[in-house]
Amino acid sequence: MINQNYKRVIERINQKAVSVGRDPGAIKLVVVTKGHPVEAVESVIAAGATIVGENYVEEALTKIGAVGDTTPVEWHMIGHVQSRKARAVCESFSYLHSLDSLKLARRLDRFSRENGHILPVLLECNVSGEESKHGWAAWQEEKWPELLPDVEQLLALPNIQVKGLMTMPPYSETPEHSRPYFQVLMALSSFFADHYPQTDWEELSMGMSTDFEISIEEGATMLRVGTEIMGPRPPR
Ligand SMILES: *Cc1c(COP(=O)(O)O)cnc(C)c1O
Repeated sequence: MINQNYKRVIERINQKAVSVGRDPGAIKLVVVTKGHPVEAVESVIAAGATIVGENYVEEALTKIGAVGDTTPVEWHMIGHVQSRKARAVCESFSYLHSLDSLKLARRLDRFSRENGHILPVLLECNVSGEESKHGWAAWQEEKWPELLPDVEQLLALPNIQVKGLMTMPPYSETPEHSRPYFQVLMALSSFFADHYPQTDWEELSMGMSTDFEISIEEGATMLRVGTEIMGPRPPR
């Protein structure tokens, strides 16, 4: 089941990319496995998944330990990280999609230095204005300049490397509803790139089970897909 789901999603990504003239190889699929047991994670890795995304540090550490490092899979943290979990993130994850504060960034920088490797990060941006969402407040374009002092400080931290932006649109059953939020994230990325051209800003982590095809049309480079591959999540 997971195997077939994974292959079908890969096929849909490839078809959509080609249909909009993009290189499918430039789009990375992060399989989101929160709430699913180790066996399910192993199934999707066996099916070919190379990047696994988890939301909760404790849950992820158990799975990372169980899967072991014989499997060449990247573990990406995609959920909100409390500052006191920063060390664990640096030690066990190869990528953070959900950097949402300077305070967290400073701690990640410190622990990454202690670990001796640089952590790639994406800035989570709240482009909808929903209060439940983490991330930098970016729903009003006229206030984007107010984000620059934070960004400048982030870029100055030597042991984290900003690679781009991440967002989560408001929940909707209608994929098309996500499009404007994806467009705002792309525009915000250009805004940052104009101000800080020495940084790549190449990654846009956006698009989930319901709307990943729309996100490909709008320039996503990383998709975070859970349910469509892993099936429904058991209640937490
Ligand atoms: C759970 C989650 C996903 C995956 O959601 P699906 O709808 O199951 O594909 C993606 N991104 C984040 C941040 C999540 O928490």
